[in-house]
Amino acid sequence: MLNRLFTTFERLVDPTGPAPPEPPPSGLVPFCRYFLRQMPGLVVRLFVGGFAVALLDTAIPITIGRLTGLLSTSPPATLFAEAWPQLLLMAVIVLVVRPGTLLLQILTINQALGPGMANLIRWQSHFHVVRQSWSWFQADFAGRIANRVMQVGPSLRESLVMSADAVWYLLVYGASAMAVLLLFDARLIAPIAAWFVLYGVLMRLFVPLLRDSSRAVSEQRSLLTGRVVDAYTNILTVKLFARAQDEDDFVRAGFDEHTQAYRAQTRMMTRWVACLAFLNASLLTSMAGLSLWLWSRGEIAVDSVVTAMPLAWQLTNMAGWVGRSITGIFENIGQVQDAMRSVAQPRTMPDAPGAGLLQVTGGGIAFERVTFGYGSERGVLHGIDLAIRPGERVGLVGPSGAGKSTLVNLLLGFHRPEAGRILIDGQDIALVTQESLRHRIGMVTQDTSLLHRSIRENIAYGRPGASEAEVEDAARRAHADAFIMDLEDWQGRRGYGAHVGERGVKLSGGQRQRIAIARVVLKDAPILVLDEATSALDTEVEAAIQEQLEGLMQGRTVIAIAHRLSTIARMDRLVMLNAGRIVEQGTHAELLSRGGPYARAWTRQSGGFAGA
Ligand code: ATP
Repeated sequence: MLNRLFTTFERLVDPTGPAPPEPPPSGLVPFCRYFLRQMPGLVVRLFVGGFAVALLDTAIPITIGRLTGLLSTSPPATLFAEAWPQLLLMAVIVLVVRPGTLLLQILTINQALGPGMANLIRWQSHFHVVRQSWSWFQADFAGRIANRVMQVGPSLRESLVMSADAVWYLLVYGASAMAVLLLFDARLIAPIAAWFVLYGVLMRLFVPLLRDSSRAVSEQRSLLTGRVVDAYTNILTVKLFARAQDEDDFVRAGFDEHTQAYRAQTRMMTRWVACLAFLNASLLTSMAGLSLWLWSRGEIAVDSVVTAMPLAWQLTNMAGWVGRSITGIFENIGQVQDAMRSVAQPRTMPDAPGAGLLQVTGGGIAFERVTFGYGSERGVLHGIDLAIRPGERVGLVGPSGAGKSTLVNLLLGFHRPEAGRILIDGQDIALVTQESLRHRIGMVTQDTSLLHRSIRENIAYGRPGASEAEVEDAARRAHADAFIMDLEDWQGRRGYGAHVGERGVKLSGGQRQRIAIARVVLKDAPILVLDEATSALDTEVEAAIQEQLEGLMQGRTVIAIAHRLSTIARMDRLVMLNAGRIVEQGTHAELLSRGGPYARAWTRQSGGFAGA
């Protein structure tokens, strides 16, 4: 029965429900509304439930007051006979209505909003963050972004639930206390009214300070997490350069800043709670003084004093609790605001409005006066004009920093040219969806990082739904099958089922690269980009793979980047870049006979012997 109740409430929110297509907006209120409007019934239920619970809580001191009234006016012998309806009503409220309402409210908070709302917000935040462009991720710490995505869900839920409780309690309790006292004597509400005014003044003073200090702590925590995760991610560099001490200093500085911000926040909280304690003490004393004075003059009865005192006492208790809740609310709002810096960001590099799908017929590529420099004045590529015929195999060569990777990253749509355009089979790539563009380009990069999944899943990433036989065939063609058969992971999974560790760290560089090649073999895209694709392989494996790559290149348009010129000497055309400009192009033989920069580089690499 209870389990059925739990399930009913748990089903009210689908934690992995589809995210709205547009990213969350940047203002705090619109940001909260973005998620809350997906569960309007629940938000209403939370506030109505909070209101009902607060209202019923005021019934307790009123009940005590009524009981005292009954005892002082009814003769003991006839108490039950005369007052049974009132006593029964009190019993029903205390025994049935109040616990029932509380249970409903707890079910809403714990079962419906608990994991459901927190994870819905996290899931949809992740959904948008993961769609940000590659350069967006390059500009921040992965640890900080992850921290923000994980904290935003619980923080938003907590601030909502706490507000529903705190705000209602204070308003409902204060208003009903005043209404009850008004029935006894209008003068009794004066201390409460004065208390409310001063409470409002204190709130106005402290809320912005509490909010700012909470946000500062949250920012420092995200920064600190970023630094810690960065040290763990780059642990090899840290160890290789024996920089643990410096890393300690860097992280310690983060801790120091966090402690400082944290102390400022807790000081502010203590100030706020202390002011509140004095205010509450004044309410209690003034209420006691006033009601006793009125009673001594015979203007109010004893039940008024007995009701007024616990009402004031409960109000001050409530205010203390609300005070603590308010610091909690702002702590959570601070965390939401910090998280918004990563989550509520407009999508970087969205597809052009109405972008179509790229249709590749032959695979011809044209760079037309392409200029790009990551926004810097100096620029990286300057007016590149390069037309690649369908099925042509082009080798890109040039010194480090010449702009080779930048050029292929532009082709993959990771950045937009600052001037000029790039066409594939006559279609401007800025006007097609990035997904369809990357779908048609297979790429093998210099540093392949694999997903922390099985080898099979890593290869099948190239073509979702590929059969077992297709995966194995691709692995064979990339010369990866032999070492895959020997793999066994820490959980005893073998071969294609073995997991590869985070980023594939449990494989050698050459093994990772062969998995990456198998993935691209499976992808079977008409355009192939090889960025130092065989750099991590030993000469023997490289020769074998080179042969496979030759096969793979058949009928595809290829752009291959290589520093080792011998690996691309057989391409149809070699294009030499220097400082962002094409300085010469032609076949290997043509360039050698020309005796220009390519010939000089070739001579250097082949140890002084010019000739293929
Ligand atoms: P290598 O052969 O060493 O890989 P490359 O010819 O591929 O070099 P690129 O990686 O394209 O050269 O870099 C060209 C220039 O662009 C370099 O000066 C580099 O500092 C700059 N650059 C590369 N990536 C970025 C980036 N994300 N933001 C700003 N500048 C960048």
